[in-house]
Amino acid sequence: MNTQLIGATSLLSTRLSYGCWRLVGTWNPKEVTPDRIVQGKRAVVVAYEAGYTLFDNADIYCHGICESVFGDAMKEVPGMRERILIATKCGIRFPGEPNPDSPPRYDFSVEHILRSCEQSLKRMKIETIDLYQLHRPDVLMNPEEVAGAFETLRKQGKAREFGVSNFLPSFVETLQEFCPMPLAVNQVEIHLGRLDCFDDGTLDQCIRRNITPMAWSPLGGGWLGSDGKVDPKDPRASVKTKLLETLDQTATKYGVSRTIISLAWLLKHPGKIVPIVGSINPERIREAVKADAIDLSREDWYRIYTAARGKPLP
Ligand code: NAP
Repeated sequence: MNTQLIGATSLLSTRLSYGCWRLVGTWNPKEVTPDRIVQGKRAVVVAYEAGYTLFDNADIYCHGICESVFGDAMKEVPGMRERILIATKCGIRFPGEPNPDSPPRYDFSVEHILRSCEQSLKRMKIETIDLYQLHRPDVLMNPEEVAGAFETLRKQGKAREFGVSNFLPSFVETLQEFCPMPLAVNQVEIHLGRLDCFDDGTLDQCIRRNITPMAWSPLGGGWLGSDGKVDPKDPRASVKTKLLETLDQTATKYGVSRTIISLAWLLKHPGKIVPIVGSINPERIREAVKADAIDLSREDWYRIYTAARGKPLP
């Protein structure tokens, strides 16, 4: 796969990243079976062998189990740690912690950031996180405090670079104003069913400030993939069905699958979007890599964009 620098850092990543959210197929630790762990570890190794070099995780994915499974898989592959970049996130807190009546919330306090980082390092059995991200904007964010936490983690060698996720441009600007280091990524939902980033200033800001946009759920959670289906009860079912037809026609023209066209569509953007592939199916993990070799024409890109909008261009 081709590579690119992440933001204004020296982190060199492949154009596609691999996401660990679904590694064990559930959010509920009680549903994690030995078979699911084996399947998750296998997916990590398959992604590594297929060439992905940026692995995305979060402290909350299956309450930390995805980080542990990822760390265990990596331990079994000699040299893997040195050849990849590890990204993870903090800042979301589950209800019931630390007290039974604690509500779900976001927490960018220095104590929570430092503690969460420590726990992620332990679970993944590593010394340093390459890219540490704030998961969702905390309305109570004190940007000075966050900047201080980032500096401490960097000084301690626990995190190299920092980024955000699901941040609107104004929130990025505010945090960046206080951070001594440039924010490297904004990880946001971008796919053909979610076009907000093209209009809300997110991608413009990424280009202007050299922040790498990472696209989560690049296949919309699966429905844009080759075997994906549109839920007939979806209020946008007719738009989505037409979009899939357009993708299938384009796929035939380029001799690849619908999955590849959906990913290649994201890769075409000049903001250098890094889609995060979320499948745990070995064939699909390997197949996604082909998107890097497809350069859609402007005509085909706009045909797909217009179908996804469900209305003509202004
Ligand atoms: P996705 O690639 O849009 O969706 C993956 C899902 O689609 C899997 O369930 C997969 O099933 C299915 N799928 C893949 N190819 C398919 C095909 N050809 N036909 C039918 N189904 C198909 O990505 P995602 O898993 O939703 O998200 C990717 C990553 O983004 C996560 O792992 C995480 O790292 C990140 N993320 C971040 C946030 C955030 O707030 N920052 C939120 C969500 C996700 P199989 O496994 O069976 O292939």
